[in-house]
Amino acid sequence: MNQIISATSALTPEGRLAPYWVRISGERILEVGHGAPPRSPDLHISQGVLSPGFVDAHAHGGGGATFASEEEAQTVLTAHRRSGTTTMLASLVSASLDTLLAQTEALRPLVESGELAAIHWEGPWLDTAHRGAHDETVLSTPSPAAVTALLDHPASELVNYVTVAPELPGGIEAVERLSTSGISVGIGHTGASCSTTREALAAGAVCGTHLFNAMKGLHHREPGAVLPLLQTPGVFLELICDGVHVHPDMIRFAWESAAQNGGPQRIVLVSDAMAAAAATDGDYTLGGLDVRVRQGVARLVTPDGGEGAIAGSTLTLAEAVRYSIVEAGITAEHALTAATSSPARMVGLDEVGKLLPGAFADLVVLDEQWSVGQVMYRGEWIQDDSSCFH
Ligand SMILES: [Zn+2]
Repeated sequence: MNQIISATSALTPEGRLAPYWVRISGERILEVGHGAPPRSPDLHISQGVLSPGFVDAHAHGGGGATFASEEEAQTVLTAHRRSGTTTMLASLVSASLDTLLAQTEALRPLVESGELAAIHWEGPWLDTAHRGAHDETVLSTPSPAAVTALLDHPASELVNYVTVAPELPGGIEAVERLSTSGISVGIGHTGASCSTTREALAAGAVCGTHLFNAMKGLHHREPGAVLPLLQTPGVFLELICDGVHVHPDMIRFAWESAAQNGGPQRIVLVSDAMAAAAATDGDYTLGGLDVRVRQGVARLVTPDGGEGAIAGSTLTLAEAVRYSIVEAGITAEHALTAATSSPARMVGLDEVGKLLPGAFADLVVLDEQWSVGQVMYRGEWIQDDSSCFH
């Protein structure tokens, strides 16, 4: 099917909101243009703001499911897709290397069919003191042998993002070897000092995994990972913009710092969603740990039944975009870029996150309140079920 979608306000490849049109053929964008669209019987004028479909580089679940199996993963993908996330990485929480390799292989059919973009290993090479909702008993160090076990395994071709605490024994060498192998390395769940973080960035790390969360705070005598991550041009900064993980003033501060050091396009919105995203409050698990979700906030359940660490979010990227614009005062151009082209670049995906010829025809239309209205996935509008869009 050949169709032209036009909008008076669309996120252009230059990162601005302006009149723009895309011609779609099959599941790809064939042709694009600024300004008024060509006359055509296949022209569809979009009423809202047109954006590429959202790219979520860090999510553990949604729709009540996790990435524990191919079937469950399909539920996660469908739940997020309805709210505009047309590209996802499956984030796996810490486990033994054998378990992670098996979980990764189990998702191979979805990666090979293109339903899932790739796999993200959030661990197991994380700092115990900054483990957040990761199971302490399965954390390990990135020894040369452990890194080899990943890189020499066929599953490594499915993994394109790994989060590492670089201060662990073997950490810097691991960052270097993973980066050289084409895997994007994120610094996260870390107690790294400022200087170790700079070493890791020099060794090839490309981002901060959920900046501010599960790392040392920005302290004047001990700046930790946050300062060098903010200051280094070219380094991407993941933010969980749900109103729980990061204060809106800190969200603005991160964006301003990025803008002063390389550009606002360094910010990457991630959901870090667990199973309750696009689902209801209740009791869930994350990597084998019990999680209780109340009023959309996910927390570990402590042994005495109390509330523990924050355990992921219940966000969708659509909600993160809306929160950034409405609550944190970020411009729509910057928020949409942070949900589309920036995550795609962070994890090396070049067919998504942009309205350019050759890219997949994944589109989102947002209304004046910055809520997602319509979603196109691979050239097809997803059936409009307005109850899903909030
Ligand atoms: Zn995390």
